[in-house]
Amino acid sequence: MEFSLNEDQQIMVDAFREVMESRNWETYFHECDETHTYPEEWVNAICEVGFDRITIPEEYDGLGLDWVTMTAAYEELGRLGGPTYVLYQLPALETVLKNGTDEQKEAVLAFLGTGKQVLNYAMTEPSAGSSFEDMRTTYTRRDGKIYLNGHKTFQTSGMHVPYMVVMARDSEDSSKYTEWFVDMAKSGITKEPLEKLGLRMDSCAEIYLENVELEESDRFGEEGGAFRRVVGDFNLERFLVALTNYGTAYCAYEDAARYANQREQGGRAIGKYQLVQLKFADMKVKLTNMRNMLYEIAWRHDQGLLGRGEGSMAKYYCSHAAFEVVDEALQVLAGIGIAGEHRVQRFWRDLRVDRVSGGTDEMMILDTAFMALRPYR
Ligand SMILES: Cc1cc2nc3c(=O)[nH]c(=O)nc-3n(C[C@H](O)[C@H](O)[C@H](O)COP(=O)(O)OP(=O)(O)OC[C@H]3O[C@@H](n4cnc5c(N)ncnc54)[C@H](O)[C@@H]3O)c2cc1C
Repeated sequence: MEFSLNEDQQIMVDAFREVMESRNWETYFHECDETHTYPEEWVNAICEVGFDRITIPEEYDGLGLDWVTMTAAYEELGRLGGPTYVLYQLPALETVLKNGTDEQKEAVLAFLGTGKQVLNYAMTEPSAGSSFEDMRTTYTRRDGKIYLNGHKTFQTSGMHVPYMVVMARDSEDSSKYTEWFVDMAKSGITKEPLEKLGLRMDSCAEIYLENVELEESDRFGEEGGAFRRVVGDFNLERFLVALTNYGTAYCAYEDAARYANQREQGGRAIGKYQLVQLKFADMKVKLTNMRNMLYEIAWRHDQGLLGRGEGSMAKYYCSHAAFEVVDEALQVLAGIGIAGEHRVQRFWRDLRVDRVSGGTDEMMILDTAFMALRPYR
């Protein structure tokens, strides 16, 4: 396996580092987190140097690069404090390019380079979280039109995205789940913001759909093909969460390491005390394991070797390992971490959310176990 970056990949990573060093972004991130505002200026700055084009094929004006490059980009942005959790929808544009109509592709591609939020995938409902069996949102065909009715909950970016891909069941045949590409400006859509523990630079919303009128051309992917599409994208979606977890942990570790070498208690730097050294040894092992796992998965994807469950394994491992690293970093920072406005405090809140959003730990375990046991049947 070869994970070292080629010249083009290195130039790209260097460009992201330059953006991160071009201003004091932390003040901006803190303000965005406090005011629950999407950090559009930052996303725009990294998109200007190509972040949103990394995995977009060249025929769509993208860079057509691979997951190893994407991993290196997330690693660098996360390490330098970037809230990479707000970026998930940009690599996920690939899903629209694979499944969307020409019109749907055109709609999302118009956002390339802007840093604006584009779309979200709406599945969860009050009655349907880990399992879709009790999904109640329906689509009904009437007089040549389609009407969507239902209630989606916990929708990431839901307050501001212009489009949403909404999963619904056929009101005539509830075994059929289909996705619809919905323009969020349509009448019949009501949004309500939800407060959450972390990830506060992105909105989270309840979405109510009441007789939202659609055309046949608004269908996203095949009729009845929603499950196949969603399961097919689990690896990417979960891998992106794992990348964010790792980058965030790396940043917290570096903050804590600098502090441990500089902060003195009892006449010595705290990093000289063995109890503190144990924390750094544990943090270093976890960061190394996360890095190796993520680059290996990226490499396997790029070689066409990626199998079902690898994204779940990465999310399961990294969301835990990263949370433990951030928790230890917070312990090293002690008072200034807990009582002040240190970014590691924010990371701690953010990372806890990722053990639920994008699928819970328990679902990741089931998927990982399926992958682990299958070859030995
Ligand atoms: C911040 C945030 C953002 C989100 N963004 C989106 C989004 O953009 N789009 C979207 O569609 N959804 C989104 N979600 C929803 C998220 O995917 C669900 O919250 C998650 O799938 C769990 O559903 P639930 O909260 O209803 O919990 P439940 O499914 O009710 O589960 C409750 C508990 O029971 C456990 N459990 C359930 N079934 C089993 C089982 N079979 N075996 C073992 N344990 C089980 C769960 O793991 C969990 O611990 C988001 C959630 C959050 C918190």
